[in-house]
Amino acid sequence: RSAAVPGVVGADLRVPLVTGGTAAYANLDHAASAPCSSAVRDAVDELLPHYASVHRGAGFASQVCTRVYEGARQVLSDFTGARQGDQVVFTRNTTDALNLLASAAPRGTSVVAFDTAHHAALLPWRHVRRIPAPQSPTEAVQALDEALAECPEGPRLAVLTGACNVTGELWRVAELARAARRRGARTVLDAAQLAPHRPIRLAELDVDYAALSGHKLYAPFGSGALVGRADWLNAADPHLAGGGASRAVTERAVSWTTGPERHEAGSPNTVGVHALATACRTLTTRWGDVVAHESALLSRLRAGLVEVPGLRELSLFGSEHDRVGVVSFTLDGQDPGLIAAALSAEHAIGVRDGLFCAHLGTRHLLTKAGADSGRALRASIGLGTTTEHVDRLVAALKSLVADGPAAAYEQVDGHWAP
Ligand code: PMP
Repeated sequence: RSAAVPGVVGADLRVPLVTGGTAAYANLDHAASAPCSSAVRDAVDELLPHYASVHRGAGFASQVCTRVYEGARQVLSDFTGARQGDQVVFTRNTTDALNLLASAAPRGTSVVAFDTAHHAALLPWRHVRRIPAPQSPTEAVQALDEALAECPEGPRLAVLTGACNVTGELWRVAELARAARRRGARTVLDAAQLAPHRPIRLAELDVDYAALSGHKLYAPFGSGALVGRADWLNAADPHLAGGGASRAVTERAVSWTTGPERHEAGSPNTVGVHALATACRTLTTRWGDVVAHESALLSRLRAGLVEVPGLRELSLFGSEHDRVGVVSFTLDGQDPGLIAAALSAEHAIGVRDGLFCAHLGTRHLLTKAGADSGRALRASIGLGTTTEHVDRLVAALKSLVADGPAAAYEQVDGHWAP
C-alpha cells in the first residue's frame, strides 16, 4: 500500500459532502496542478522577510533577493540538463514560455506540431503545419520527418511533447529530436507534464528548448521557465518592453540588454522563482521515490479501471506504452461532467473532465476509443496520491455506473452541480 509521499501541503484536507458530513479530499488532478510541497512552503517562508525588488536595490534585502533570483537560473539549468551557454528565462508558466519562443523565433520560421499537442504548444505560432495524430512512436518519427521535408528553406522548429496531458503517454523525444536535426530543424520540448515525473536532459536529448510550469512541480502558480539556445532569444524583440530589459534609453533610441533580462522586463516574481527552483531541487533528490510511488499507483489504478463496466481508456500508442500517472477515460452511456461532479460532491474525489486544452488530440482519442461522449474524464496521480485515493475512485465509479448518483444534479452554466 502507498501512503502519500511525505511533505505535501494539504494532504489532510477535508471537504464537505453533499450527502452530509465531510471526507478526506482525494486529489486525483495532479496533472492540472500539483499541491505545494512543504519544502517549497518552508523556502518561501524563509525568503519572505527579505522580500525586496531584485537587481536595482542596493540594500541588503535586495541583494539577498537578487542572489536567490539569479541562483535559481542555475538550478533550472541543472534541472533541465541544459548546455553551457543556454539561457534560462523566467516566465509565468509553460504557455508564457512557448509564446515567448514563438515571438523570438526568426520571422518565417516553419513550425511543425502534432495535432495531439496541448493548446499552449499548438496555438502560439504564427503559422504551424499540423501533423495528424500518429498511431505509433515509429510513425510519429516518420511523420515528423515528412512534415519537415516539406518545409521551405529557412529556419525550422519542431514542437515536441514530453508526456501527453491526456493519456500520460511518453513520447520518444530523443528519436524525434534526431529526426528534426537531420532536417535542419530546432526542437522545443513542452515539458509541462514530463518535468514532474521524469528527469529532463536537454543536452543529451539534443533538444534546443524546454518549457515548464512551477505549479505542476509542487510549487505555487505564477512561475515557469523557457530554457534553451541564446541566439534567437538575444536577437528577438523583448517579450515585454520596460525596465530591466532596456540597457539605455535616450530621446531618440532604446537599446535592449542581451541575456535573460531582455525578456523579463518589470519587477520579477522573485518569490515564485525561488519556489520553482526549490521545487526542482527537491524533485532532483527524490526521482527514485517519485517513479516508484507513481508507477505502483498507476498500475493499481489501471487494474481497477479495467473492472469498471463500460470504461474505455484513451490511448494513442496502445495500453502497454510507457506513461506517467495520467489516465483519461469515458464510461459508456454516462456524461463525464456529471460523473466528475458526483465524484466531487459525494466522494470527495477531484478529477477533471472535458477536452483538457487539447481539443484536436482528445477528439481523435475519443473517436479512436469508440467513445459515445464528446468529452472525457481524467484521473492523474502524483506525490500526494495514496492507495486509498485510487481504490476510492474505482469503487465510486463502479457505484455510479451501477446505481447513478445519490443526489440530484442540474446543469448551471454548462457545469453539473448538486
Ligand atoms: N502543456 C501541457 C502538456 C500541459 O499539460 C499544460 C497544462 N495543462 C500546459 C502545456 C500549459 O501549462 P500552463 O497552464 O502552466 O501554462
